[in-house]
Amino acid sequence: MNHRFDYLVLGGGSGGIASARRAASYGARVALIEGRALGGTCVNVGCVPKKIMWLASNQKDSIDVMQDYGIQGVKKNAYFDWGECVRNRQAYIERLNGFYAKNLAKDSVSVISGWARFSDAKTVMVGTETYCADHILIATGGTPLIPTKIPGAELGIDSDGFFQLEEQPRRVVIVGSGYIAVELAGVLQGLGTQVTLVMRKEFPLRTFDSLIQEKIKEALIDQGVEVITDTEIKQVKKVGQKIHVFEDDGRSFGPYEQLIWAIGRQPNLRELNVSGTGLKLTKTGHIEVDAWQKTTVSGLYAVGDVTDRPALTPVAIHAGRKLADRLFHGDKKAKLDVDCVPSVVFSHPPIGVVGLTEDQAVERYG
Ligand code: FAD
Repeated sequence: MNHRFDYLVLGGGSGGIASARRAASYGARVALIEGRALGGTCVNVGCVPKKIMWLASNQKDSIDVMQDYGIQGVKKNAYFDWGECVRNRQAYIERLNGFYAKNLAKDSVSVISGWARFSDAKTVMVGTETYCADHILIATGGTPLIPTKIPGAELGIDSDGFFQLEEQPRRVVIVGSGYIAVELAGVLQGLGTQVTLVMRKEFPLRTFDSLIQEKIKEALIDQGVEVITDTEIKQVKKVGQKIHVFEDDGRSFGPYEQLIWAIGRQPNLRELNVSGTGLKLTKTGHIEVDAWQKTTVSGLYAVGDVTDRPALTPVAIHAGRKLADRLFHGDKKAKLDVDCVPSVVFSHPPIGVVGLTEDQAVERYG
């Protein structure tokens, strides 16, 4: 059967939901297609569960210092129940999934469960059903990268896998130096896991100010994380139930219960079949968009992590809303401004940044 809408949104994550609801608020007939749970990465395997784990870790830090403030007897009996925390976290996420469904229904957005696949630039299939619209938004987000050329890499998990852990691992090696690697290292170490963080360069958070890079490395070490720098993992092996990681020269680290790859994310185009659409991709494989979220194909737009804009929830939301303002409310100048995007790293202590780094400022202004 063929279904026709004014606006077809592919992906029910941060950007897709925000854009769909904003367009519907202007009276557009909107359908949103989602293959998994509503809310996307942020709600299900990103910001939300991460912040819950970070808060758990912070509560534990507070317990450790309570007796210094005269609160006696808590530390002696305190222990962290991973299973209880994870069950409560997942119950909270399910409630959020429900809120999203309710809000979309309230705004009269038709939600279609399934994977969207282009049959041509103007038509999308979900199973045997066909959907068309004058305007189609691609908001399919990203997925974590696992190395393809390292023998044994599949023995590790990624950040999605971290959120599926039902038991607390006692010893973990995390490979990566971006904010997700730093955050997971801090959370796990804070909750009592012994963490080793392996990175290729000397410092983590390479896109941040050098002062922050240095301080966060110190903070990780102070927290008890074993930080191994200037090291590239070339092989992973399992010995019995435990994981060992190897460098080129045969030097090895381990044993670990879990290996977590946190080496970056890639745009999620797997199910979409963009090859027949004429969409142009960037060198990094993201969908190329201009400042107005327009792709190289008329009537097709993209927002969020599937583009090469900063991969952050508020960026995806803002881009999605501004696009709807422009397409369905005649607000011709509405567009995302990425010049001054604030962001926070949920490390221990947390870091907040906005604007240029010192190096960028020197390069730009001398
Ligand atoms: P997503 O939220 O990923 O949504 C895309 C949706 O599209 C998914 O639900 C997917 O199932 C669906 N989809 C994909 N292909 C199809 C298809 N063919 N058909 C139908 N549906 C499809 N950002 C912050 O701002 N703050 C944070 O603290 C933060 N922490 C993070 C922590 C982690 C561990 C991770 C992984 C990410 C974090 N992020 C954070 C980033 C944030 O989650 C993303 O930037 C944001 O979710 C991007 O939104 P999006 O709409 O582009 O994509």
